[in-house]
Amino acid sequence: MKQYVCVSGGADSTALALLLWERGEDFEMVFSDTGAELPETYWLLPRLARQINKPLRVVSNGSFYQHLVEYGYMLPGPRLRWCTRLLKETPLDRWFKEQGAEVVYNGIRADEPRRINYKRKPRCGNHVFVFPLVKAGIGKKDVIKLCGKYDLLNPVYKWRSNVSCFCCFFQKASDWKGLLKHHPTLYALAEEWEKEAIRLTEKGYTWRQGWTLEAMRTMDEQQLKLWPEPEGEPCLICTI
Ligand code: SF4
Repeated sequence: MKQYVCVSGGADSTALALLLWERGEDFEMVFSDTGAELPETYWLLPRLARQINKPLRVVSNGSFYQHLVEYGYMLPGPRLRWCTRLLKETPLDRWFKEQGAEVVYNGIRADEPRRINYKRKPRCGNHVFVFPLVKAGIGKKDVIKLCGKYDLLNPVYKWRSNVSCFCCFFQKASDWKGLLKHHPTLYALAEEWEKEAIRLTEKGYTWRQGWTLEAMRTMDEQQLKLWPEPEGEPCLICTI
């Protein structure tokens, strides 16, 4: 049976792969690379593949930057999520269809009632989605424990709330600050793209409406508290 686990470098999908491996399941891992992943993710994924001795397939539909330029620097946002569709869903859908996938394991946890109904049916292909973490009653604590057991918890969690694109518009202020501290060149890159977006788009898109990364860089703690937190979270498919 052709069975796949979508991995993102996040704790949930890592724990899912470990759980299935411990159970002796036969599967391959698939990672959809947006070209804007954090370096820690590229570090973690080969370690995971080595630990469980399973193939890691990497799929892509072009890079974040490529699509950003094609969109005339129209930065993605909660109401304009072209990145999820083009960089995560499209390449994965294509892969599952081409490979004739039968089962796709999904890393939703048992303590995420809001997400449990997500993605019951595939957009294309004939595979079914299966939710082993939900079935096993595995929540956040167990996920962290399982990753820790094999020293496979993405180190990004030391300073960031989730594993997403470095420039994800769903980041909290503390995540952006963490990016500035741990990967200043990536922060500078996101800031540069934002400057181009302000210059080239009629609406003057910014990563967070009404705020710029340039301004944020120089904010003190008090000012930072005024930074609005995101009204949502990175796409599930990006963070499982
Ligand atoms: S992680 Fe964020 S920026 Fe990256 S594809 Fe998902 S929603 Fe878009």
